[in-house]
Amino acid sequence: MKTHLSYFENTFKFEDLATIDAVGKDENGHFILLNQTLFHPQGGGQPSDQGTLQVEDVTIPIHRVKAVDNMVRHYTDKNYSFLIGQEVTSSLDQAMRLNHARLHTAGHLISNIIENIAPHWNTVKGHHFPNECFVEFTSQNDTSEAILMEQLIQEIETCIEANYSISMDQIVGDKVKELCSNLKFSIPNDQLVRIVRIGDFPFSPCGGTHVKSLQELKGLEITRIKIKNNTMKINYDIR
Ligand SMILES: [Zn+2]
Repeated sequence: MKTHLSYFENTFKFEDLATIDAVGKDENGHFILLNQTLFHPQGGGQPSDQGTLQVEDVTIPIHRVKAVDNMVRHYTDKNYSFLIGQEVTSSLDQAMRLNHARLHTAGHLISNIIENIAPHWNTVKGHHFPNECFVEFTSQNDTSEAILMEQLIQEIETCIEANYSISMDQIVGDKVKELCSNLKFSIPNDQLVRIVRIGDFPFSPCGGTHVKSLQELKGLEITRIKIKNNTMKINYDIR
């Protein structure tokens, strides 16, 4: 069994129909399994969506979403087993979805720019939670923080001004290996993988939510660059 991930198709679809397939409980509380979901489960450095499921006069709050074994668990307040088989209207917290998509896309942009202007830095980690966003890189070479900061800010401005579009697609594993340089994990040849690309920057495999174009990242600010022991951490925010 696998939950169909409808959010892959459109970041800006905030409401959709789904069917409750099952309910369950784990260490995080009661959860609901749907046949398809608009909710982005926490992962890849990006927090989960929140929202509600509506069945007639019953409103089910969804406060956390997590993927376990290809099934997306929508965590809620109690056992809703009496609604199994019912069609529900899924509604996302729109402001939260858009904020997460902007912060996450900004992480991609910073990673792309740094690997372009200073290719010895390799992205190793992204964390795109509101008020604590950062991208982390490693390198064996020393670089001046001040020079990088100046170049990065300039490049961000240029890219946003050029308003590059963000494209997304789902392709099979062997094609991903052709398109994505520096793949850091193995992918079976026949597995479908979601890939993302900003403008002409390299493709990246990614299951997150992204805005359509860089104009939506206006207000992106680099708040700190810290280099220590071959690791560089770049903190940022969108104000
Ligand atoms: Zn992404």
